[in-house]
Amino acid sequence: MEDICPDNITIDKAELPLFVLKELQVSVLRLDKLHPLISGNKWFKLRFYLEEAKRSGKKKILTYGGAWSNHIIATAAVCQLNGLEAIGIIRGEEPRELSDTLLQAKQLGMRLVFISRDDYAGKEIPASIRSEDYCLIPEGGFGNPGVKGAATITDYFKREDYTHICCAVGTGTMLAGLISKAQSSQQVLGISVLKNNRDLERNVKKLLNNTTTSPRIIHDYHCGGYARYHSALIGFMNEFYRHSSIPSDFVYTGKLFFGISDLAKNNYFPARSKLLLIHSGGLQGNASLGKGTLIF
Ligand SMILES: *Cc1c(COP(=O)(O)O)cnc(C)c1O
Repeated sequence: MEDICPDNITIDKAELPLFVLKELQVSVLRLDKLHPLISGNKWFKLRFYLEEAKRSGKKKILTYGGAWSNHIIATAAVCQLNGLEAIGIIRGEEPRELSDTLLQAKQLGMRLVFISRDDYAGKEIPASIRSEDYCLIPEGGFGNPGVKGAATITDYFKREDYTHICCAVGTGTMLAGLISKAQSSQQVLGISVLKNNRDLERNVKKLLNNTTTSPRIIHDYHCGGYARYHSALIGFMNEFYRHSSIPSDFVYTGKLFFGISDLAKNNYFPARSKLLLIHSGGLQGNASLGKGTLIF
């Protein structure tokens, strides 16, 4: 498998007619180009967890995720690259046919352990593996090592070049990392991809040890809820690609671009703002959509 290539990361312009009209300079930090499987923010969130594992001498990583989880596939791939064993605790009963994501994770050597949705909600670890000597990485790389890793995303752009840094928000780990390194004149803006996740602000504050004021998170662009979508979102993703040649995923970055463009339409950003949108990867998840839905 190919190695992780930070040199592949680029900053691309997104010149949509709307952004030109509103006099906004919009750029996209292409973390999706880092690696086909360990794409985007997941490698950043995993890097210090891996260091911890190496330091402790543990040879096994255990983590959690759903059937199309970017975190599961990234963990499987990163463990293979680092010669570590990987165990994935997967939400729900074992399906008759594995999703592309799980199939690939398995091919990368990850041991998949399926648990019921109830047990998953309680982050139950099955008795059969409880006694094994592993390092646990929380779902989505949530937690302080994840924040510290996500903060290193800021090494890949010049902070002073942007008035706004915008990202999609799941657990809020990436957002917390970006806030921790932002300049005081700069706004870091999160677009939540979950419906009514009202604990988010508090969780992000906690990840930052309550050192900041409430983070700015917009809750209006979940498009029906986590991993849900409507035709306007898909239409927008195709349109965005037509104008910028930048592909997005329907769970995270599609909603980010969709939300930012709607905010721009409603004059949320002052003219001449310079926006950096974080392309956090996740393109592999588009495989769950029907063929022909997206033009890329
Ligand atoms: C996991 C993920 C996110 C969310 O990151 P959090 O740190 O959990 O908020 C955003 N974008 C993509 C593509 C992801 O896979």
